[in-house]
Amino acid sequence: MPSSKNKSALQEKKSDSHSNLSAISAERIKSLRREKKDINELIQGVLKGNKTALSQAITLIESRSKRHTDDIKTVISSCLPHANKSLRIGITGVPGVGKSTFIEQLGLRLTQEGHKVAVLAVDPSSSVSRGSILGDKTRMERLVLEPNAFIRPTASSESLGGVARKTRESILLCEAAGFDILLVETVGVGQSETTVHSMTDFFLLLKLAGAGDELQGIKRGIIEMADAIIINKSDGENMKAAKRAKVEFNSALHMYPAKQNGWSPKVKLASALNNVGIENVWTMISKYTEIVKSNGFFEDKRANQNQFWLTQTIEDSLKREFYQNETIKAEFPEVLKKIQSQQISPFEAADYLLRKAKL
Ligand code: GDP
Repeated sequence: MPSSKNKSALQEKKSDSHSNLSAISAERIKSLRREKKDINELIQGVLKGNKTALSQAITLIESRSKRHTDDIKTVISSCLPHANKSLRIGITGVPGVGKSTFIEQLGLRLTQEGHKVAVLAVDPSSSVSRGSILGDKTRMERLVLEPNAFIRPTASSESLGGVARKTRESILLCEAAGFDILLVETVGVGQSETTVHSMTDFFLLLKLAGAGDELQGIKRGIIEMADAIIINKSDGENMKAAKRAKVEFNSALHMYPAKQNGWSPKVKLASALNNVGIENVWTMISKYTEIVKSNGFFEDKRANQNQFWLTQTIEDSLKREFYQNETIKAEFPEVLKKIQSQQISPFEAADYLLRKAKL
């Protein structure tokens, strides 16, 4: 039996742990309130167009931590009613074609006219190699100094799907912060062009004029996606080749059926380095916007893109859930063996696993 002294020590201990617990929960409540206040401040900052707040909000979206899921939802749903009011321009081209030089010139031109310009990048290389084709070098040194420009280095993520989602969400945040022109850049390799095409209103393909057949090595799909092809570095000794390339691309574009939106894709020459042709490109984009806004295709395209991203996100989530399912992980190798030894067909096996996953 504990002595009265011990008893009181125990009681003390108990009340100590009580007060410890209540101190901890009080601290937790305080910290939750603090976080909530922080999130509200962050949202207000974004809506006021504060670039630091916008940067922090994008960093929050990019964080993969489950702890932030609710905060991310709050930020996005608060920004959504203020989004969608920009013109989204996709720009693609192989490394070295002059994307950053071009974007800087176009961005400077637009900020001078009073536009607020945000530059985002979709760079699948950063998810593969952890290095980045787009983000690493110091780029757009003049544009970065413009108060009305916001440049966000590449999001890194585990997959192109992840990068795409974050870019889509970042677009919404930039729009909510009052940026009315979005330049979304990607490297002309792999699937990233399709991704950027599916989140922008106008899609620009930057090309170089080279010797020989200009159309070699260019994927048919990319030409089909392009609303304009810009032959960059049309200067000095390149000029002759550039003019030839323009003729070739023009005749290639004519082989495609006319687009329903009333726009026939254009080929333009530019020298981003010398700031030549940039004005023309902007006039062309403005003309395009005028046409598709008046015939309803601007809104149609955005509606289709929203539908695409809805189904895409569902498919991505289902796939992830399927492959992360413990039963599937355990049974998959066995089932695969049975397929290889011709005991069951791949289709039967797929049916079996899908039923097992109970999605
Ligand atoms: P990116 O990798 O596509 O972003 O290409 P950059 O913008 O970094 O440009 C690659 C190189 O090409 C740089 O040395 C630029 O100065 C140069 N460059 C860009 N645009 C032009 C141009 O219009 N004419 C010429 N001659 N060089 C250019």
